Amino acid sequence: MRVAVIGGGAAGQLAAIKAAENGHRVTIFEQNEKLGKKLFITGKGRCNVTNAADREGFFRHVVRNPRFLYSAYAHFDSAAIMQLIETAGVPLKIERGQRVFPVSDHSSDILKALEKTVRSRGVDVRLNTRVSEILTNGGRISGVRVGETVEPFEAVILATGGISYPSTGSTGDGYRFAQALGHTIVPPKGSLVPFETEETWCESLSGLTLKNVTLTVYNIKGKEVYSELGEMLFTHFGVSGPLVLSASAHMRHMDSRKYRLEIDLKPGLDEKKLDARLLRDFEKYANREFKNALVDLAGQSMIPVLIDLSGIPEDTKVHDITREQRMRLLRLFKAFPVSVSGKRPIDEAIVTAGGVNPKEVNPRTMESKLMPGLYFAGEVLDLDAYTGGFNLQIAWSTAHTAGQAVLKEEYQ
Ligand SMILES: Cc1cc2nc3c(=O)[nH]c(=O)nc-3n(C[C@H](O)[C@H](O)[C@H](O)COP(=O)(O)OP(=O)(O)OC[C@H]3O[C@@H](n4cnc5c(N)ncnc54)[C@H](O)[C@@H]3O)c2cc1C
Repeated sequence: MRVAVIGGGAAGQLAAIKAAENGHRVTIFEQNEKLGKKLFITGKGRCNVTNAADREGFFRHVVRNPRFLYSAYAHFDSAAIMQLIETAGVPLKIERGQRVFPVSDHSSDILKALEKTVRSRGVDVRLNTRVSEILTNGGRISGVRVGETVEPFEAVILATGGISYPSTGSTGDGYRFAQALGHTIVPPKGSLVPFETEETWCESLSGLTLKNVTLTVYNIKGKEVYSELGEMLFTHFGVSGPLVLSASAHMRHMDSRKYRLEIDLKPGLDEKKLDARLLRDFEKYANREFKNALVDLAGQSMIPVLIDLSGIPEDTKVHDITREQRMRLLRLFKAFPVSVSGKRPIDEAIVTAGGVNPKEVNPRTMESKLMPGLYFAGEVLDLDAYTGGFNLQIAWSTAHTAGQAVLKEEYQ
């Protein structure tokens, strides 16, 4: 049977491999000049292929609709994709947090391995080819339209991705196709996305990376919604980096509610120990002006901001600083405040939350419940996870199921 796979990203390529292994004549339509353009930029060019956490660990990191993935993950988990990639000649390594990368640290190796496997299965790869419509006849899939041409297919696997980083080709076509065939689209929003902040001084810290800090996020009611130790950075618009991106997945109501961030700049020291440390430094620099007394405790660019927020005049002699002033400074180190004014645009989000409603898709086959012969794989579905390789694992697991189940009478 003829199967069209729309989209040659992570999901489209794996779905094509599996469908071809099942004896179908498979064509990948990819509008870019090459396969896997987004995959190339993943993991800062290193491609965090998956996460080697156990089943429980995987599902703890899936934010939306984890139950929908139970069957797909059971059939094709992180060990399965690791085996497929290593068999294709790319050795992998497991880093901190169980994140899996190629030993070479080059995403291009993952791309080459996938493409080699795609081609070795006899898949017809059509680059620079944008599908403009999915066609039906008598209530089932009959083909796709490419430019002026209609091409017949018995099944379509829709693997067009989300709408973040549209320069990689994920421009939302899949949502339009699915909608035209009766599916509902959960409104897409950016997830794993940097924040803009109200504080203008963030700009003066632009480029500063904070390592080993704890970021805590509170909602407007003062409830803690996220707290984690790690790395973050200041940018010209606000804050970004791994901690911030992960936090954003927990901040679901950015449009209607405000959030407050607190950064513990010294998570290794409790308040008592930090106070002892401050007293020691203040003793050491007792005759200096306050502006010259923080050199051992804070980075150069951070000092003016700390001084400003502490409310202690910078030319105060250190021996004149009162206990109350010292406590204010201590609170700044333990709970450095940042107010979020909004998320960066969805274009800059790592993943799209929202998409084709999984309620209308059979989780055991990825086939549409509304249109026989239409299958889904990857980010086009309303599924997303935290950083750490989990989003690609969602693409692999759903693609494997779609590729295995396509046009099969029975697939469990
Ligand atoms: C900067 C960045 C870093 C990331 N790093 C990681 C990471 O390290 N680990 C991780 O797990 N996840 C990471 N992600 C997320 C991950 O890349 C995505 O979740 C994943 O690529 C989704 O795969 P996909 O195949 O569903 O979609 P995509 O990779 O977006 O592929 C969709 C493809 O469909 C094509 N297409 C769309 N419409 C049409 C059409 N009409 N006709 C023909 N072709 C079409 C597009 O050109 C595109 O190539 C990262 C994302 C970004 C943006």
